[in-house]
Amino acid sequence: MIPAQFDYTRANTLDEALTLLAQNEDAKILAGGHSLIPAMKLRLATPSLLIDIGRIKDLSYIREGNGQIRIGAMTTHYQIESSDLLKSICPLLPDCASHIGDVQVRNKGTIGGSVAHSDPGGDWPAAIVALDAEMIAVSKNGERSIKADDFFVDLLTTALAPNEILREIRVNKPSGRTGQAYVKMHHPASGFAVVGVAANLGFDDSGKCESARIGITGVSSKAYRATAVESALRGKHLDHGAIEEALAHDDDAVEANGDLFASADYRRNMAMVYTGRAIAAAVERAR
Ligand SMILES: Cc1cc2nc3c(=O)[nH]c(=O)nc-3n(C[C@H](O)[C@H](O)[C@H](O)COP(=O)(O)OP(=O)(O)OC[C@H]3O[C@@H](n4cnc5c(N)ncnc54)[C@H](O)[C@@H]3O)c2cc1C
Repeated sequence: MIPAQFDYTRANTLDEALTLLAQNEDAKILAGGHSLIPAMKLRLATPSLLIDIGRIKDLSYIREGNGQIRIGAMTTHYQIESSDLLKSICPLLPDCASHIGDVQVRNKGTIGGSVAHSDPGGDWPAAIVALDAEMIAVSKNGERSIKADDFFVDLLTTALAPNEILREIRVNKPSGRTGQAYVKMHHPASGFAVVGVAANLGFDDSGKCESARIGITGVSSKAYRATAVESALRGKHLDHGAIEEALAHDDDAVEANGDLFASADYRRNMAMVYTGRAIAAAVERAR
């Protein structure tokens, strides 16, 4: 498939990219291109101008400071997967990255592009909501922070305004005793998540669960939290029985997607199976 005609320009600075974006209503930011170019070839996206931000300095980094982890939007999946810093302080991030596509996709695709795209089968959104991340968006009018729970709005739709660029993703550095895990049922053809579940659990000194955030992707039009399961986990010692009991708290309000590979009922069931696996893996890792 051949995309519709478009112009291309490479921005050298973030400010230049923001100016171009403000001046061109139909423009799109080009990051790794691994979602945008296929969408253009299928004519699902027909931007008149691509603004390539791939060579802007200082959009690709992983930093730690003031109790926070800060990841530049152009950081690739592979950079996160292979980060020793993240493996030691927030293993959910490299764990999630390792499940994305293949090595070529992970070398080129970026965390910013992935969350800005908000694919319902994308892996990052589950981890982003489980970590309660903060998304830093910039435009010519300034900067604002968007909480993960407000960021994913619908299928391929986020809270980013057309004139905004996602600059950075911030995560509070986990403290105390924590357990994190990402588990995924891969679609056999595309590799995207039929179901992907990220668990981020905190435990008190007695071993009881004191905080729980579970992010689920692949099931609905956007990533969501299993809030009923989270509440059922808090205050408990998470042995097999307590996890089983918590899994009975399915969230009926979630509208599951169905397709040729997985019906809505199957996806909903698998969401609970994989939620149990993610919780069990997170408990194991917290030991
Ligand atoms: C064969 C294949 C297999 C894949 N498998 C998986 C998988 O298993 N799991 C998974 O999660 N993903 C998968 N992907 C998608 C991959 O992770 C993409 O890299 C990712 O979805 C988009 O990142 P990108 O950097 O390529 O963004 P692009 O494709 O360049 O951009 C995607 C969208 O985000 C916008 N955008 C990009 N960066 C910004 C920014 N900083 N601010 C604002 N808007 C921005 C663009 O304008 C565009 O609309 C796969 C892709 C391919 C080609």
